[in-house]
Amino acid sequence: MPVPLLDVNAQNLPLESELQAAFTQVLHHGRFIMGPEMEAFEREVAAMTGAKHALAVSSGTDALLLALMALDIQPGDEVLCPAFTFFATAGAVSRLGAVPVFTDVCPVCFNMDVNDARRKITAKTKALIPVHLFGQCADMDALLALAKQYGLKVIEDAAQSIGAQYKGRQAGTMGDFGTYSFFPSKNLGGFGDGGMLVTNDDALAEFARVLRVHGSKPKYYHHYVGGNFRMDTLQCALLSVKLKRYAQYTAERQRNAADYTARLLKLPGVVQADPAHCKCVATQDAALAAQDARIVLPVSYAHNSHIWNQFTLRVLGSRRDSLRDHLVAKKIGCDIYYPVTLDQQQCFANLPAASRTGCDISHRIAAEVLSIPIYGELTEAQRAEVVAVIAEWLA
Ligand SMILES: *Cc1c(COP(=O)(O)O)cnc(C)c1O
Repeated sequence: MPVPLLDVNAQNLPLESELQAAFTQVLHHGRFIMGPEMEAFEREVAAMTGAKHALAVSSGTDALLLALMALDIQPGDEVLCPAFTFFATAGAVSRLGAVPVFTDVCPVCFNMDVNDARRKITAKTKALIPVHLFGQCADMDALLALAKQYGLKVIEDAAQSIGAQYKGRQAGTMGDFGTYSFFPSKNLGGFGDGGMLVTNDDALAEFARVLRVHGSKPKYYHHYVGGNFRMDTLQCALLSVKLKRYAQYTAERQRNAADYTARLLKLPGVVQADPAHCKCVATQDAALAAQDARIVLPVSYAHNSHIWNQFTLRVLGSRRDSLRDHLVAKKIGCDIYYPVTLDQQQCFANLPAASRTGCDISHRIAAEVLSIPIYGELTEAQRAEVVAVIAEWLA
């Protein structure tokens, strides 16, 4: 039985009549740019996350760019971001002429390593961008304390983590800004591109609002050079239909992750990552060797509520591509998020060498990871099939 990595239709088609009604409403009032459904969707996201301000924007990438612009990041400024993340985190920094300085990541949760971040702070460092990767929050207490100590701004890249929690606090609401993405593969997946910028700071929210419309207020009077960072009214109207069901979507992913974990742990050579090994890869290596581990399952820290945008295995012993080939041959969807760390991307080869050092754990993880289907509508039979095909490979 083939199992796709993601099936957007399984979530969207049951909503067809409600989505069509939302479209009809926007069609008839005709306010396609910044119409009433945009403001409604912003209020709904603010209510769900507890953020004081929410601005609908054109994408998660533009949310990051807008946040950096509103924080006045200038050419030559340094911004810390993890080496192991999607490109947009660092791309937004680079587009402003600022320098992304790459930090290594935790070998348990794959998020920014605060000790490495501390080592890489210089007189030019202005901000840091922790990414809440795969649906799990980074070590925010430590990162916020570090930022406070050095006077750095914090932008949380929560593109993969809207609704995730850290010690009861919502992803995206702990720093100066938080950014979400509604790209179709994200947990709140839209019908095209879209994103959201959130903040609890009134002045920053106001500045970002102005920058979202070319830096003009009122219209045609430009105090700043902004951009067109708006999200379509129609996209907002459609996403409101899905936001109502978001708690259920998250619960389904969490059920799938728990089910995979229970089933996979019964297989020889499969272990779950141990939160105690956070930040100490040598201890982790010794423990994995002692257990004859071949596959390491992801884990949620007890203080986090993980929303499982990805369920990402680590395949040890240079065997990742072998497992991937086996899954592909058996028609099980899978993908590598991410095969090349950002410090090794060609477009950053001209950055100062000091911004691209010491990301050894990221390099290893990039060679070991493999994400398997985790979307909410997976059936029990599909989950069993994925596990059976992995068992076949282990045998
Ligand atoms: C998807 C993603 C983005 C970019 O979001 P888009 O809406 O696709 O522009 C940024 N950062 C991370 C970590 C992402 O996963």
